[in-house]
Amino acid sequence: MDLFEHQGKELFARYGLPVPSGEVALSPEEAVAAASRLGLPVVVKAQVHTGGRGKAGGVKLAADLDAVRGHASDILGLDISGHIVRRLWIEEASDIAEEYYASFTLDRSARKHLGMLSVEGGVEIETVAARDPEAIARIHIDPVDGLSQQACHHWVRAARIPEAVADAVAGVLETLYRAYVDADADLVEVNPLIVTSAGEVVLLDSKITLDANSTFRHDDYAAYDATQTRDEREQAAHAKGLQYVGLDGSVGVIANGAGLAMSTVDVVNQVGGRPANFLDIGGGANAEVMSNALEVINNDPAVRSILINIFGGITRGEEIANGIIEATGRVDIDSPIVIRLDGTNAAEGRELLEPHLNDTLTMEPTMLDAARRAVELAGAGAGGVQP
Ligand code: GDP
Ligand code: MN
Repeated sequence: MDLFEHQGKELFARYGLPVPSGEVALSPEEAVAAASRLGLPVVVKAQVHTGGRGKAGGVKLAADLDAVRGHASDILGLDISGHIVRRLWIEEASDIAEEYYASFTLDRSARKHLGMLSVEGGVEIETVAARDPEAIARIHIDPVDGLSQQACHHWVRAARIPEAVADAVAGVLETLYRAYVDADADLVEVNPLIVTSAGEVVLLDSKITLDANSTFRHDDYAAYDATQTRDEREQAAHAKGLQYVGLDGSVGVIANGAGLAMSTVDVVNQVGGRPANFLDIGGGANAEVMSNALEVINNDPAVRSILINIFGGITRGEEIANGIIEATGRVDIDSPIVIRLDGTNAAEGRELLEPHLNDTLTMEPTMLDAARRAVELAGAGAGGVQP
């Protein structure tokens, strides 16, 4: 779950981290009003879930209110790497003397947190890593031990942060690490972490990715969830509580359990097809859930056939069969459906389905057969192209 820059900065501020004051604005008028409250000059910043906004013209300095209005209307509606700007952050301008880079993320292979710090901030860290890998000081942090003051100071020295601000930077990093852990973040990146001409250390940008699985222990995460940008199909599926990932093929995939859904995607590929999505309906494949899943897939114009791959466990075969029968009665499906039903009470389930089978609702005995059939049907639907 990605946060907007301003949400990240608001989170930082709750930890007492130094961030410039600012306000959200959704229109040029709101931007002007915000700027007059904050005092000029201000920076008008696009709020999108992607970086490189500066280069794309999404970050602009404004010295007067006319400039605020002009920049705001230019930036609103701007397409930044496929993200359309719908909100702005109006922030009091900072006087930058130095730009550093700081981040914390999870290094899964090391089973530790990884901190990265560089005096070469303001540019993408990948660029720094490619040009001058020595310019990035890394620190691995054991999640149980945490980041000690001593280790933090050593890290700051290794990054060659100037002595005059070393203590302040170390203090910021210790707090930033605490925020990263407390917030259950997968990534916290500050680029740039600046030193102002007055010598103050300020977090000028924020990129935060939260672990969506931690939502249950953070009351405020619902607000972040509401501002996620999703693929339209993903949005619809998410609203119905379905685990959905949009892909770019033509076979719609419905399976129960993420493991089976992934295997199904693999098998569709294996027999020469391309999945349109990955949809996990989870444990309870009742009519409601099945209807929702079919509806989401049916709304994807790229879908040419639908493969329902169910292996009943706790959920019994006849429940699943009833779910499919009810769902196909409820939703008008444009594409042929191929079912593979196995597991607990599969025989009972198949028996229930039998009288409903026709040209557009077929059943196959195995996952491989079902995938082959679905891919065949997708090919035919796409204009007679057979895999
Ligand atoms: P990004 O391009 O998406 O990473 O957006 P940033 O928030 O990092 O802004 C891009 C660049 O704009 C920064 O690296 C700064 O150089 C510049 N910038 C942002 N805010 C200010 C500001 O308050 N004053 C000045 N002088 N420059 C700023
Ligand atoms: Mn940045």
